[in-house]
Amino acid sequence: MSVFNFSAGPAVMPKPVIEQIQRDLPSLDNSGMSILEISHRSALFQNIIDEAVADLRDLLNIPANYHICFAQGGGTGQFAAVPLNLANNRRHIALLDSGTWAAKAGKEATRLGYQVTTLATTKDGKYRELPRLKQAVPADSFDYLHVTTNNTIEGTAYHTVPESEIPIVADMSSNFLGENYDITDFGLVFAGAQKNLGPAGVTVVIVREDLIQTAEAVPSIFDYQLAIDKGSMLNTPPTFAIYAAGLVLKWIKAEGGVAEMARRNQAKSDKLYDYLDESKLFNAPAFKPDRSYTNVVFSTNNDELDATLVKEATAAGLMNLKGHRSVGGLRASLYNAMPMAGVDALIDFLYQFEQTHQEA
Ligand SMILES: *Cc1c(COP(=O)(O)O)cnc(C)c1O
Repeated sequence: MSVFNFSAGPAVMPKPVIEQIQRDLPSLDNSGMSILEISHRSALFQNIIDEAVADLRDLLNIPANYHICFAQGGGTGQFAAVPLNLANNRRHIALLDSGTWAAKAGKEATRLGYQVTTLATTKDGKYRELPRLKQAVPADSFDYLHVTTNNTIEGTAYHTVPESEIPIVADMSSNFLGENYDITDFGLVFAGAQKNLGPAGVTVVIVREDLIQTAEAVPSIFDYQLAIDKGSMLNTPPTFAIYAAGLVLKWIKAEGGVAEMARRNQAKSDKLYDYLDESKLFNAPAFKPDRSYTNVVFSTNNDELDATLVKEATAAGLMNLKGHRSVGGLRASLYNAMPMAGVDALIDFLYQFEQTHQEA
């Protein structure tokens, strides 16, 4: 039985990458040493991190005035690192409250003593659609605007970037390299690897040079200028996670780049949404124009039936379809490494399930 993993994260990785890791594991580049045991100061590892940075720059057309860092602490770490580094002029940031992760970012900045103004929210409608700015954010208002490009839990995504005269900080954790964005629309982009890039343990930060301030009260580990100066190696970086993410970047390149990933993700999600919209049993609540290409949220509107579905799906090799614990229901994450065959298998399964569990 083939297994398809619809986990929201840590999530499916490309099979050829997993196989490459398996081949490389005992002896990296015939060194007689594993990636798990070599120094981050070795030429072997320096080469790996340099290539990962170069491949990322290439894949996203990142201009020279943007720095690329590999950080630790996940997306959650960046909820603190971003205001600590970028919000020292006004100590006031703006937020588009588009979902659970956006709200968490706002809470963390508040916790650290920054003022947070929510310019728009769709919380009252359970984040089924995206909050939109009524007018462009004027310059000289806030240090930056925090936007979550893809709302992993609620299944919505900004397919066009909000208009703003202040820098936009994008939490791209769950559609990084899976949807086409122009990096120059943002002041800073961050993404935890474990959704769409690689294993857990590394977070990519792409930041425009002129936004970095010499900040005083930033722990060294979160200081962007230090990270840049030290080539992401102020201390021991997550060597294995960076190596594995590097292999995924090479895989994306070989498969046709980010535009091709985006095309595939849209095709996969369109197919699943089309089925769900036609179905009498299932309901996909996200507002159609705002629907995510990478996280498809749906349910039968019956908690017991949803639980039965998850159980039967698991037995059929369709794994991790349970929705986030905060919203319940069902969710199929269709990241870059999920093949169309997985979506076809899921639709076949849902169709069969619908035949045998028709609700009155
Ligand atoms: C998963 C996720 C996070 C949190 O990531 P951690 O690495 O677990 O801290 C933040 N933002 C978004 C959009 C996410 O999907």
